[in-house]
Amino acid sequence: MDCIFCDIIGKNESAEILYENESIISFLDIRPVNYGHTLVIPKKHYENFLSVPSEVLGDLIQATQMLSAAILKSLAPDGFNIVVNNGVAAGQSIFHFHFHIIPRFQSDDFKFRPNLKSYRDGTMEKFAEKIRLAITT
Ligand code: AMP
Ligand code: ZN
Repeated sequence: MDCIFCDIIGKNESAEILYENESIISFLDIRPVNYGHTLVIPKKHYENFLSVPSEVLGDLIQATQMLSAAILKSLAPDGFNIVVNNGVAAGQSIFHFHFHIIPRFQSDDFKFRPNLKSYRDGTMEKFAEKIRLAITT
């Protein structure tokens, strides 16, 4: 399987690695929204959020929190976004699961301005009920 992130993990592709342990690795995004934009990925290949086992997800979240703190301390952004894109429609381009940590500045030009919808009468409950029925715990 062709996967640039697996190549980085295997050290067959160069990357600016920030941190790694037995289950995860983190490196700088090569095309940053802002400098210091960081990716945190599992060392095993999983395609998206739903396919990552929960214990690996725990390791990823822990590392993402630790690295976010390091980015705040070292680069002093005004804020940061944690982003996951799942599927082409959501902007996923590398199909090896990853968290983005994006340092943000008041004056940056990265804007997420969706055209927000409103629920028509009675439809909000219908959406909620549909989702509730699909929940498996
Ligand atoms: P996504 O669109 O959510 O799948 O994000 C994939 C990210 O991987 C993009 O932001 C790319 O800039 C980044 N990327 C692609 N190739 C590399 C690479 N060789 N090293 C570091 N980051 C990469
Ligand atoms: Zn991979």
